[in-house]
Amino acid sequence: MNKIPLLDLKPQHDPLHGEIMQALERVVKSQHFILGPEVESFEASVAAYCGARHAVGMSSGSDALLAALMAWNVGPGDEVVTTTYSFFATAGAVSRLGAKPVLVDIDEPSFNIDPAKIEAVCTPRTKVIIPVHLYGQCADMDPILDLGRKRGIKVLEDAAQAIGTEYKGGRRACSMGDMGCLSFFPTKNLGALGDAGMVVTNDAALAEKLRVIRAHGSKPKYYHSMIGGNFRIDALQAAVLAVKLKALDGWTAARQKNAALYDAAFAKAACVKDGRVKTPKAVYGASVKNGHIYNQYVIRAEKRDALRQHLDKNGVGTEIYYPVPFHLQACFKDLGHKQGDFPLAEKAANDTLAVPIYPGLTPDMIQAVVDRISAFYQAS
Ligand SMILES: *Cc1c(COP(=O)(O)O)cnc(C)c1O
Repeated sequence: MNKIPLLDLKPQHDPLHGEIMQALERVVKSQHFILGPEVESFEASVAAYCGARHAVGMSSGSDALLAALMAWNVGPGDEVVTTTYSFFATAGAVSRLGAKPVLVDIDEPSFNIDPAKIEAVCTPRTKVIIPVHLYGQCADMDPILDLGRKRGIKVLEDAAQAIGTEYKGGRRACSMGDMGCLSFFPTKNLGALGDAGMVVTNDAALAEKLRVIRAHGSKPKYYHSMIGGNFRIDALQAAVLAVKLKALDGWTAARQKNAALYDAAFAKAACVKDGRVKTPKAVYGASVKNGHIYNQYVIRAEKRDALRQHLDKNGVGTEIYYPVPFHLQACFKDLGHKQGDFPLAEKAANDTLAVPIYPGLTPDMIQAVVDRISAFYQAS
């Protein structure tokens, strides 16, 4: 059997190749590279897709988080509560503005922030809570939204891995909090041909402020009432993403079908029956169609690092998202945390492994991944 990479974009791009090239050609001929009609039309499409009123294109998911926090004037003296277990940008955006990330452990089995542990760390300085919808399923939003309303704390959804994910009642990621951030990094479910991101909100005034922030705080041009940055999405990326957005539901369905094939194959494997491997579950969106959109299919595995080596030798691409939680990162030493502070996140960092789940993976390839994992445990 050939190599099975963690991600292969060819099955997504090949059928759209002509349309993508036409979109690129149209933008090149228009000479309108910064913002403009391609961006506006893509923003409207994404807002509608998320079930929200406004969307503002940004240069990346990281810049979307940064701009969103800037729109609330988050800065020194402010605290922002978030999970200790996410991609670096979630906490990095907080620290870059001089505010303090206040970290919380995850719940099992969702890998998302444990809502029951948030209130205890809130103080009068807490300005924002950032739940992350990790791997493609929503954090438990209801208690977080209730807490935010009760204490006057804003809620910013980090939906970088969760475009189109539905929570209880079918509410979509980015439509529930005060703002939501998307990433179009190439590995995300809707990926650009480079970096791009977006902030989504129902609040017209925030959307307007975000448009000013992404252009150096300039309005009108060359008159600056605030300091922003260059956080603009490229028209080229917006034009390509608009083509790909039309295929997103099909890709999501393919990821879910692949997850079901994994679940079925793993259910028959001895390493799952004896508990050495655990498969992922849709938790808070279990009753809705897109309760999990599987940006990643993440198993929990005994002897994870040895298993990963075995799979690498046998041609299966995997990744660890993420090997070090925020509270143990060298750059966050000043937060004063130590090993043992957030045991569930630490355990996840030690035993999670993402296996290939991309649309275009065949049933044979999925069975081969499960077989190679089974073979590792039979031999060990
Ligand atoms: C990818 C990602 C980001 C950052 O997005 P970029 O577009 O890569 O800057 C932020 N948060 C999470 C959870 C992500 O997965």
